[in-house]
Formats: sequence, structure tokens, C-alpha cells
Amino acid sequence: MRISIIGSGYVGSVTAACFAALGHEVICIDIDEKKVSQINDGYPPVWEEGLEDLMQKHVGKNLIATSDYEYAVQNTDISFICVGTPSGNDGGIDLSIVGAASKSLGSAIASKSGYHVVVVKSTVVPGTTEDVVLPLIEEYSGRIAGEGFGVAMNPEFLREGRAVDDFMNPDKIVVGAIDERSGALVSELYRDVDCEITYTNPKTAEMIKYTNNSLLATKISFANEIGNICKKLGIDTYEVMNAVGKDFRLSPNFLNSGAGFGGSCFPKDVRALIGKAKEMDYYPSLLESVMEVNELQPLQMVELLQEKIPDLSGKTISVLGLAFKGNTDDIRESRSIPVIKKLLELGAEVKTYDPLASENMENVFDTITYCESSVESLRDADACLIMTEWDEFRDLDEAFSLMKGNLVIDGRHLIDPEALSTEIEYVGICW
Ligand code: NAD
Repeated sequence: MRISIIGSGYVGSVTAACFAALGHEVICIDIDEKKVSQINDGYPPVWEEGLEDLMQKHVGKNLIATSDYEYAVQNTDISFICVGTPSGNDGGIDLSIVGAASKSLGSAIASKSGYHVVVVKSTVVPGTTEDVVLPLIEEYSGRIAGEGFGVAMNPEFLREGRAVDDFMNPDKIVVGAIDERSGALVSELYRDVDCEITYTNPKTAEMIKYTNNSLLATKISFANEIGNICKKLGIDTYEVMNAVGKDFRLSPNFLNSGAGFGGSCFPKDVRALIGKAKEMDYYPSLLESVMEVNELQPLQMVELLQEKIPDLSGKTISVLGLAFKGNTDDIRESRSIPVIKKLLELGAEVKTYDPLASENMENVFDTITYCESSVESLRDADACLIMTEWDEFRDLDEAFSLMKGNLVIDGRHLIDPEALSTEIEYVGICW
């Protein structure tokens, strides 16, 4: 089939490359000309395992990029909206980018002959596809939904860092369509993917995505709260959760305590659901608490640091890890941001290293030192905070000995304290 993908960020570029790998003809649309030319040169605009290989293989054959909506819509039968849906000033969802993309798409559909299907893949609050996107497409195309064009909602559940694999081997595909014709066309795209499709309406599809992310975020904040209590009791929370996770009604995944969750999805999506619930006059106290625990959690790292070094003024702190999790260059809502902010407020000097995310973080902090390696970051530091679960941080014993001080605070349960040389004072955030 012929598909256009609107927005070439994490979701858009992975969706485009994977649909191309599944044999479809794909056109990416982005308003960012830099991303368009990067893709046309065969390089993905974001880092994802396996994505560059796919782009190198398919760009110029069945995958191209453009900023021209008319060209893309004329030459495809189905368009996926994959643009960002950031938090608004009130914490609710900001749908202005989805609105702008819908208007451009509607105008392009107006000058096309033949049926076109519009699919929302961006994460949007329940009701958005039918109450925001659909009316804008009708207005700008001059057509009637269900007659001149089809509409569906197909949420994305990929995990950054493993996005290509998740797209090709999903555990669920959800298609919420306004009619059978739209739903059938969307599911046809996935015919070679080995996964059962859940068919529903757009509003339910939207809610499935929010519920999924809110439950995962809740598990993490729950594990962190239990972890904080365990820490005070001198209990290893990982031992507790390993046993708890064996309960057949639970799963052991996402029960790992640490410095909290970040990324472009969990914080934003939980906030958006909170905002939507409040709009309906419902106060979601559990979800509010999930966010509150997550805001406080990274600061536990600094509190533990100050228990050992009360005055941080003039001290050099090595922060290892800037990405919100391992295997990505994404720093959105990374828990290292509030930690670095706090360290700077307290007068510390920050030396940091991340294998992929330093360049992105330079836009957030321009007064900290970005090192080329863990060794460089650790050299002469008074203490080290581990903020991201990069594999290469697991085995730093010798590098730790280059520090001036000997304190290592682990926010991700990465280090095996038994394997460390005795001079290192190891502290786990929740264990
Ligand atoms: P992103 O910010 O990385 O990418 C969005 C892209 O859209 C950018 O390249 C931007 O230039 C482009 N864009 C903006 N306005 C446009 C317009 N009018 N026309 C065409 N392109 C335009 O965002 P992302 O992380 O890929 O997320 C996209 C959506 O998918 C969000 O709703 C997000 O919540 C959801 N989602 C993200 C993930 C994830 O892991 N990142 C996972 C599942 C769902």
C-alpha cells in the first residue's frame, strides 16, 4: 500500500521505516527541512537501534521524505499523523500541532481525487480523533468523513531504544475506526505482522493508550514508594519486588525502583489524562500521586548525596547518564535534569557523560562539563551519581578509583556492590 507519515520524530521515522520494510511505499512528511534531507540521505533524524540500517536499505527505493503535503497525499492512500502532543501550560494536552497537521492534511485531501484514510497515531486524549481531527479534515477538505475520507486511531506502544523491534513484533495492535472501510485499510497494512488486532472505536483506542501508559507509570511510582520505605527500613526492595513479581496476578516487569520515570510519554500522558479527568469534574487522586512521587524521586539522589557531603558548594559531581533511559538519545523529562538543576543550585560543579545524549542536553545546560567518557567524567570528582541504565556503567570499578572522593550513588540498580573495590562507598537510591 502507499502510506504517508506526518511527523518524522521517534514514532514517525520508525513507523515509516518499518512500513517500508514490510513492503509498503512510504512518504515521510515533516515541516523540518533538516529532517527531510537527513532521511533522504538515508540517515534517521533520531537514534534507534536498527533504524539506520532500515533507512539505508529503503530510502530512494520505497521510502522518501518531503515537506510537501500535496505531493505526499496525491501519491498515497493513507496518512498517519505522528506529530508531537506536548503538555500544555495547564498540564493538559496541547493539541495545536495535531490541529496544524490536520489542517494541512485536509487542504491536501481537498485537491486529491479519490478516497483517503487519515489515521491518528499520535497519543491524543479520548475524543480528539473524532472531535478535533475529523472536523478539521472535513472543514479543510470540503469532504464528509465516511464518504470522501476515512478516519481511524491506531495508537503506538513502541519503547524508545527498542522501537524498531517493538514495531515489527508488537504485543498488541489497536485499531479504532469510524467505519469498517477505514478499519480494514489500516489492518491491511499490518497483514505481515504476527499480532492479533483489537478493533474498537477511536475514543476507546485513545483511552487504551493512556490507560496502558498510566498503569506502567503507576507501577514505577509504586515501586519507588515501596523502595523509599524499604530504604528507611534497611530492606533491599529488589529482593521484595522479585518475590512480589512472582504472583501470577502481577508481572515482575516495571517493579524496579530507581530515580523515577522520564521520557516523552509517561509524564506527559499521565498529566494529559489527569487534565482530561479534571475537565470532566473528576479528581484523579491516584494519578496525581503517581506524578508527585515521580517529581520527588530524583531529588532523593541529592538528599543521599548531602547526607554524606552536606555542603556541595565547589564540589565536583560526576553525573553518569543524561538520557531518560538507556539506549536512546532522548532527554525529554529525563530525571537527570532536576538532579543537575538542584546540584547547580547548591553550588556544585557538574561533569557529565552520556554515550548518546550529551548533544541534546547542551540545549538545556550550558554551564556543565560534557565529557567524552565515564573515565573523564569521574576523574577528580568528589562523588558520582548514576542516572541512566547504560550497560557500560555496570563495570566502572577501576574508573571509580580515579575520583577524588569515594561515594557512588546508584539511581538505577546498575552496580553490583559486591564486585566493587573496598574503597568505594556504594549507596543505592532505594536499597
Ligand atoms: P517528536 O517530537 O520526536 O516528532 C514529531 C515530529 O513532527 C517532528 O519531527 C516535527 O518536526 C514534526 N512536525 C511538527 N509539526 C508538524 C506538521 N505540522 N507537519 C509535519 N510534521 C510536523 O515526537 P514523537 O516522540 O515521535 O511522538 C509523536 C507522538 O507519538 C506523540 O503524540 C507521542 O506521545 C506519541 N508516542 C511517542 C512514543 C515515543 O516513544 N516517543 C511512543 C508512543 C507514542
